[in-house]
Formats: sequence, structure tokens, C-alpha cells
Amino acid sequence: YFIDQKDQIKFFNQNMKGELVSKFDLESKLRQALAKDEFELYYQPQLKSENNQVIGVEALIRWYHPEEGMISPGKFIPQAEENGMILKLGDWVLKEAISQLKNWQDKGYNNLIMAVNIAPQQFMQGDFVKKIKKLLFEYQIEAQSLELEITERTVIKDIEYTIEVLNDLQKLGVQISIDDFGTGYSSLEYLNRFALNKLKIDKSFVHQSSNLNIVKTIIMMGNNLNLNVVAEGVETKAELDFLIQNKCHYYQGYYFAKPQNAIDVEKYFRKI
Ligand code: C2E
Ligand code: CA
Ligand code: CA
Ligand code: CA
Repeated sequence: YFIDQKDQIKFFNQNMKGELVSKFDLESKLRQALAKDEFELYYQPQLKSENNQVIGVEALIRWYHPEEGMISPGKFIPQAEENGMILKLGDWVLKEAISQLKNWQDKGYNNLIMAVNIAPQQFMQGDFVKKIKKLLFEYQIEAQSLELEITERTVIKDIEYTIEVLNDLQKLGVQISIDDFGTGYSSLEYLNRFALNKLKIDKSFVHQSSNLNIVKTIIMMGNNLNLNVVAEGVETKAELDFLIQNKCHYYQGYYFAKPQNAIDVEKYFRKI
């Protein structure tokens, strides 16, 4: 088992000196890590290709483990989804991201959008919309400045309920973006029924080695559905040029900036 999670096994093997960590152990580790404040948010700029202006950032969680050093989210988010800790982690991420956005707004960076990744279980919580509303009120943030990134995994859980929650979020004014687009199994028909603002093309499609006709098709479809199309994982000028030529006007990737801490990412912002 765990075939596609080799790295996780390696990490926890090292950590436990050859023993596999049980689900319960990881759950309590994550719990401790939260209590000890070992998580940090990194932020990656999202740009408008027109003028390379930063329109916002995506918050990406990092775990600074005292012995292991930095652990990337790919190594603990999937497990946190399995053991339920994703709800506590997700609450922490939302609060931290919104409080950082407030901090930036207070410094005069007024037009930034904060994009936060939302796991399926978070989205399916009965009080999810209420939670978002409360946080926005607490930090005095306009709903339009918050963007929630959900994946097709969330959407296919319960289509009718998803439509309901998305409508509530749209009424509130929060922006919704569909993440990792093209990698899941959702039916295209649903795209039209969901209150969405953005479509993020998964980085596996963006690289020049992939089938460029797929990228072209996704961009065209997004544009036809009046969605802002964002390409993630843009690493080269050639990739960016191709995207612009094909009318994808927003991008994110190492070509412009890696995810970095709140202090370092500020240098990309402009006061407007
Ligand atoms: P994602 O949401 O698809 O995020 C994009 C990932 O691509 C990030 O990896 C980012 O660092 C990486 N990336 C950005 N630009 C480039 C590029 O030009 N080239 C390449 N090769 N990669 C690039 P990261 O930060 O390791 O996050 C991995 C995944 O973990 C995320 O994928 C997301 O699914 C999940 N994740 C991260 N933070 C959170 C969080 O706060 N909550 C939840 N639920 N999931 C999170
Ligand atoms: Ca994302
Ligand atoms: Ca992705
Ligand atoms: Ca994702």
C-alpha cells in the first residue's frame, strides 16, 4: 500500500527510526504541531500577464518540524484529510491567511486577493459559510478579497449540496476558483451550474512537454464560460508566451516567484 506516497513513508520511517507511524500518531503529531505553532503560511504571487502586476497571492502551508526541518504539504495534507485533522488545520490556515491579508491592507496594499486552499471536508462542514462570514467580519475584510480554491474532489462529493454552498458563498461575495482543473473526474456539465469565478489549470498541463492542445482547449472553455483562467506552475518564458497567445491572462509560477514567507513576498506588491 501507500504506493503513490513513497515520500511520506520515507519521512515517517526516518522519523520513527524504522517504524511506521500509525494514523493515530500522525494525528497527535499534527495536533502538537498546531499547539506549538510549527506551521507557517507561504504566499505565492498570482499575476496578470498584461503588465505583470500582482493581483493576489495563494496561501500554501508549511510545517517547520524541529527535527525534520521543513515538511511540504504534500507529505501531510493527504493524511490530515484521512485522519480528520484537516478541519483544525484548515481553520488555522483560514484565520492566519485572513489576518495576514488584514495586515497587508493596513500597510496600504489594498487590492490584493488572498486565495486559500479548501479541503473537501472543510467545504462539506455544515457551518462552513458561517465560519467564513465570521472571519471576514472579525478582520473587517471585504468578501471580494477572499478567494477559495476548491478541487473537483470536493465538487463530486455531493453536487446539489455543492451548488447550494457555492451560491451562498457567491451571495456573500467570496470568489471561488476551481483548482487542479483537468485532473479530476467532474463532468463539464457541472461547470455551468456552479457559481465560479476562476479556473486554475493544473501545472501538469502547463509544462511545455505536455499536450498543448489540452491546455488550449481548457483555456478556450474557461473563457467561453466567462471564467478567469489562471495557469499554475509557469516556469519558463516559453510557457508564459504560449499561454498569453492562447488568451490565458493570469498566471502563477516559479518563472515569476516561488512561494515565500509574508515578509519576503511583500516586495512584489504595489500600493494602489
Ligand atoms: P496546489 O494547490 O495545486 O498548489 C500549487 C503547488 O505548486 C504548490 O506546492 C506550489 O508551491 C507549487 N508550485 C507553484 N509554482 C510552481 C512552479 O512553477 N513549478 C512547480 N513545479 N511547482 C510550483 P505546495 O506548496 O508544495 O503545495 C502542494 C499542495 O498541498 C497544494 O497544491 C495543495 O493541494 C496542498 N496545500 C497546500 N497548502 C494547503 C492548505 O493550506 N490547505 C489545503 N487544504 N491544502 C494545501
Ligand atoms: Ca491551490
Ligand atoms: Ca495543482
Ligand atoms: Ca490543489
